[in-house]
Amino acid sequence: MSSIWNLAHPWLRDLVAYEPGKPIEDVARELGLEPSSIIKLASNENPLGPSPKALEAMRATLERSHFYPDGGGYYLREAIGKRCGLKRENVILGCGSNEVIEFIGHAFLKPGDEIVTASHAFVVYKLMATLFGARTVEVADPGFKHDLDAMAAAITPATREVFVANPNNPTGTLVSQEEIDRFMDKVPDHVVVVFDEAYYEFLHNPPDTLKYVRQGRNVVVLRTFSKIQGLANLRIGYGLANPELISVLQKTRQPFNANGIAQAGALAGLLDDEHQLKTKQITDQGRDYLQESFGKLGLEYVPSHANFVLVKVGDGKAMFSTLMKQGIIVRDMTSYKLPEWIRVSVGTMDQNQRFIEALSAILKPGA
Ligand SMILES: *Cc1c(COP(=O)(O)O)cnc(C)c1O
Repeated sequence: MSSIWNLAHPWLRDLVAYEPGKPIEDVARELGLEPSSIIKLASNENPLGPSPKALEAMRATLERSHFYPDGGGYYLREAIGKRCGLKRENVILGCGSNEVIEFIGHAFLKPGDEIVTASHAFVVYKLMATLFGARTVEVADPGFKHDLDAMAAAITPATREVFVANPNNPTGTLVSQEEIDRFMDKVPDHVVVVFDEAYYEFLHNPPDTLKYVRQGRNVVVLRTFSKIQGLANLRIGYGLANPELISVLQKTRQPFNANGIAQAGALAGLLDDEHQLKTKQITDQGRDYLQESFGKLGLEYVPSHANFVLVKVGDGKAMFSTLMKQGIIVRDMTSYKLPEWIRVSVGTMDQNQRFIEALSAILKPGA
């Protein structure tokens, strides 16, 4: 360990970098493939792209690139509040909802504290806890589903935050309203509960967690424009909480964390119900097709409530590489302690079919 590590916070040594889905540009460069021939089903992005209305609003805002953005995010927070039956004071914007996870860490975590999460939960919770020197308690999730009773039982006097990803990434599993209500009855006041609802808009009968925000509980609900809205490149998401909790989080952010082009695109996209509905429909059809195809191939998969499916293929890393050579990017799950699995995002029907054909040929050569 070089001497600079003796100066840095010791817990940073344990911090492993987040492994993102492999970008199309990387695969094209490394394998000498045409970028347009590559399909990326690795980051749960919207295969339809952004809403045309969002694109139009962003183009108009480009002309104003020399102005600093509205750091307070007035119009977007106002519109989000209205959509959720809340007020602007209930909303904080982030550079992706991932940044809001960091705000929550800044506000509540110090070395020695604990967070509670599920064993196969979205990995960013643990990365953020590590960043602040806190310890992550990972609770077993039988059938890949968060066990909220066990998570409540794992809360100690040292616990500051509990993360519930609903639906969870990478498993796609959902906890019910009843399970959430029973959990919230048990959570003590010294704990902030974070419901990460990045895939909320894909649900058909979503549980209500905003009632706990309205009740003034220590709850943050996270949502994002990266998934159903197809604006992942812009980095914009938000947290919903009671006004006092939001005012604490506001202190932890940089003055212009949400850029103006992102705010304009998000605002226009938020109001474009048609694009969201279309996305939801192709996601439902595509997910059914993928799951049905996995069934026919005799592959174990986790029935999903989101725009991706976790499927067991044997050697996940090998499958990832073989598919990549054919211009299909999926996600290998080694960093989630699931080396036999891959996660595939729902694409357009053409993309889904190309993926299933390639997968079938790899699994049953000559068939
Ligand atoms: C994709 C995702 C997010 C959103 O990240 P952004 O920073 O908003 O792009 C948050 N939580 C989960 C569980 C996700 O899968």
